[in-house]
Amino acid sequence: MEKKQTAATESHVLVFPLPIQGHINPMLQFSKRLASKGLKVTLVTSTSIAHSMRAPHESAINVETIFDGFQEGERAASPDEFLKRYKATVPQSLAELIEKHGSSPYPVKCIIYDSVLPWVLDVARNTGISGASFFTQSCAVSVLYYHEIQGSLKVSSEAEAVGVVSLPSLPELEFNDLPSFVNGAGSYPAIYDLVFSRFSNIDDADWLFWNTFNGLEEEVVNWMASKWPIKPIGPTIPSMFLDKRLEDDKEYGLSLFKPNSDACMEWLDSKEPDSVVYVSFGSLAALGEVQMAELAWGLKRSNTSFLWVVREPEKEKLPNNFIEETKEMGLVVTWSPQLEVLAHKSVGCFITHCGWNSTLEALSLGVPMVAMPQWTDQPTNAKFVSDIWKVGIRVKVDEEGIVTQKEIERCIREVMEREISNEMVKNSEKWKKLACMAVDDGGSSDKNIEEFVTKLVCNSN
Ligand code: UDP
Repeated sequence: MEKKQTAATESHVLVFPLPIQGHINPMLQFSKRLASKGLKVTLVTSTSIAHSMRAPHESAINVETIFDGFQEGERAASPDEFLKRYKATVPQSLAELIEKHGSSPYPVKCIIYDSVLPWVLDVARNTGISGASFFTQSCAVSVLYYHEIQGSLKVSSEAEAVGVVSLPSLPELEFNDLPSFVNGAGSYPAIYDLVFSRFSNIDDADWLFWNTFNGLEEEVVNWMASKWPIKPIGPTIPSMFLDKRLEDDKEYGLSLFKPNSDACMEWLDSKEPDSVVYVSFGSLAALGEVQMAELAWGLKRSNTSFLWVVREPEKEKLPNNFIEETKEMGLVVTWSPQLEVLAHKSVGCFITHCGWNSTLEALSLGVPMVAMPQWTDQPTNAKFVSDIWKVGIRVKVDEEGIVTQKEIERCIREVMEREISNEMVKNSEKWKKLACMAVDDGGSSDKNIEEFVTKLVCNSN
């Protein structure tokens, strides 16, 4: 699609994600959609991740880095320490960036900030620009967090949740389907605060963008829309894997990890169609050592080829000799080009933690899932994958909280079984079609993006 040359070209927006992979990816893809409508877009990242960032070679998106309290390569001792220093430093750095652009030909009109950083709206107000909040999770999960804040989701233990939780617009949910944080902060108080803070000034934001799309979670979106003027703009799948409209979409990522791309793709090329299980738990989740071993031996027992992403710090939890013993059937890498992997014809099943991006990616690329949620929003996403969208099955956890090797084997076999996987692929076709329609020219998400661009341009003239 050709880039529109309109007055929008004069309008400059900043896009500011929390510096973690699962938030950078959707906000970068959204930036590309905005840039394709002629806006000048700057994705703002910060010093703590600058050393590990691998930017696309060529892109319509500028990337600028601000100081976030950490020198390049410096690591915080804990999430609490990181977030404390980050919040104390970033408002000033952002304000300076906005002021710097004030005297350029492209003054900033609006900042689109990660919804978990609601204080960015104060920076916007103080510098005289508008502020838009971007929600990186599903609408269903947001509704659950909202009910938790309102006190209408009073569930603090499994015992209390005997039976089901019934809330307007949501399917009936059991305790294990709820996001982990509705059960309290556990050992992550700072992340807990972050998760719930996004509602603190939701009424004040000029725009509310959601990474979802019409039809996927319709009732929940309608319920949210009855409270706030939310704008679904997703799914934020790179255009080259979905509608194929954006011309400058060859290099689609801005990765904090170095993918073993050639090794993965060459290995996949050597496999039969639909014969490989792809396993990834995203950028943050850490499995316990026992769980890691059960998963490893489950993969071996399944006797199915597997491509497993085990991030560097997780590697030492692999059982001794596992890589050696399975080298004929498996490939273990520290990071993969996930979209390319999911789009590869050899991949027939995705064992996933159900992070929202991974879920949308598998759904849009038609890969049946084995849902193995770990924490935060993942249990709710897993519920939708298995019971609502019917594009995967969910593992059963034993009394010790472990998914055993036998269970892993069972799930792989079930999903790899042609009849079942065909049914799931058929179901994903429907979602893929809706996803494509939403972002395509004149689709619901595209219209929402267009509306934002038009209003921004009108207001700045
Ligand atoms: N990802 C990737 N390579 C990997 C694992 C993950 O490119 O080996 C990408 C994946 O495509 C997704 C993101 O990292 O866009 C992870 O986001 P998600 O919401 O699924 O999980 P999180 O990392 O936030 O838990």
